[in-house]
Amino acid sequence: MLGLMQDRPLLISSLIEHAAHYHPKAEIVSKTCEGTIYRSNYAGLRSRAAKLARALIKLGIGPGDRVATLAWNTHRHMELYFAVSGIGAVLHTVNPRLFPEQIDYIINHAENRVLLFDITFADLVHKLRPNLTTVEHVVAMTDGAHLPAQPLGCLSYETLVEAEDDILDWPVFDERTASSLCYTSGTTGNPKGVLYSHRSTILHSFVACANDGLKLCSSDSVLLVVPLFHVNAWGIPYAAAMCGAKVVLPGPALDGKSIFELASQEGCNFSLGVPTVWLGLFKYIEENPALDLSAIKLDRVVVGGSAAPRSIIEKFRSIFGTFVIHAWGMSETSPLGSIGNLLPVHRDLPVTEQVSVQCKQGRAIYGVELRIVDEDGTPLPHDGASAGNLMVRGPWVAAGYFKGEGGAVLDAEGWFATGDVATIDPDGYIQITDRSKDVIKSGGEWISSIDLENVAVAHPAVQEAAVIGLPHPKWQERPLLVVVRKPDTDPAREDILDYMSVRVAKWWLPDDVVFVNELPHTATGKLQKTKLRELFKDHALP
Ligand code: ADP
Repeated sequence: MLGLMQDRPLLISSLIEHAAHYHPKAEIVSKTCEGTIYRSNYAGLRSRAAKLARALIKLGIGPGDRVATLAWNTHRHMELYFAVSGIGAVLHTVNPRLFPEQIDYIINHAENRVLLFDITFADLVHKLRPNLTTVEHVVAMTDGAHLPAQPLGCLSYETLVEAEDDILDWPVFDERTASSLCYTSGTTGNPKGVLYSHRSTILHSFVACANDGLKLCSSDSVLLVVPLFHVNAWGIPYAAAMCGAKVVLPGPALDGKSIFELASQEGCNFSLGVPTVWLGLFKYIEENPALDLSAIKLDRVVVGGSAAPRSIIEKFRSIFGTFVIHAWGMSETSPLGSIGNLLPVHRDLPVTEQVSVQCKQGRAIYGVELRIVDEDGTPLPHDGASAGNLMVRGPWVAAGYFKGEGGAVLDAEGWFATGDVATIDPDGYIQITDRSKDVIKSGGEWISSIDLENVAVAHPAVQEAAVIGLPHPKWQERPLLVVVRKPDTDPAREDILDYMSVRVAKWWLPDDVVFVNELPHTATGKLQKTKLRELFKDHALP
């Protein structure tokens, strides 16, 4: 027997309609690529998204069509989030930091019909244009006065929007319809497209608003530092509309000074970003001791994308009284997978122990199931010590990649292998110890390359460190430490190994240390270990 409740589809258009009706005056503030500050609110966002939707329909965009963006965090990009998905088309946010050949590849692979870009990317789009075989229209996200000379024939976003009125009944369709598309940055092989649905997006938004989630609510002023081209900017545009939070968009400027100024000017109490951004903020603060730190009112900051270093968690707490919510996720998990809030048992712990809990990547939130398995797929205990492949299952987790790339990705029970290696403690907190392809298998045991890197970078002369496994005749693999020295320092191999030897198990100690001027990174700033393995494949361990 079925229940007798209304079967209203969960559609992204309902978010912007809700926000415009119930939080019409909640602000949307944006730095623009033209260098100005734009101020509007949810009523304005809804109105412009509707006009834009009408313009896109006139350009021939309909259900299922893919519309690409190459853009920073601005009000226009946020309008596209609602306009494109609202009419049943698919918003494909392209990461402009990818290599041009990767951008070519994914725009063609996605068969984008329209490409909208910020004027800062005009040269890039001009160069890419001849290779983009499916793109019919290129639109510069600016007004007529700032329209770039090239690419030839590009349209102006503002001209398109201004020509329309905002009377629009958003179409109603199946909530499982595709809403947006985001390609993984491709640390292995070609980038693969993760195709989100309206349903997955709305369910994910509830978690961002939940108290044991990111606690987003109408009293928040959110500085959205994480780029809108990266995993739907962690779901915040949708969740903010769901609860009517003020949204502050930093445009192209993500340096410490710009973040500091915007957060203080707009009274932001909540923000999200990868560790690198926060390192930039603290560097700026250290270099400018005269700053008025009381101007920063951040009460919580979400750090994710890669492990939040302990120093970031401590500095946020001691300098601003900010609680760092350490979160783990990936493009394939929309991205919220686990969220690091404290439990009642942690309330009375000393600060250092609370920080230790925050250094873990948090717990599964309702809707996400997490488990760890060994190489045969056998589940491992949640004892905080056993490390295994992290598996995830849930309604906002990918069931496959766009156009079937990569084949079947779920096991027989519907679990998705994240490619991360983790422990899970008895309270359910996960700790990412490695990527499965980066873990070093020595004598039948696993050595965490991340743990070794963390110890190495704590050495006063080490700027950055990476650890890779090299083949070994006896042990199968042994760790090699690759180090970038800090300027004006000259540590010897032995200095670093001596330092590490009292901090890690003896059999974990790297067999060798090599010094390099820089380490290879992916477009999203992660260490590119495939390249390092290739570079050092012939390195002879002593
Ligand atoms: P990719 O880099 O594979 O394209 P994503 O940008 O989606 O994909 O990154 C997801 C990966 O980032 C995760 O699988 C994990 O390895 C890493 N990651 C994300 N958050 C954290 C975190 N809080 N701590 C450690 N690693 C993290």
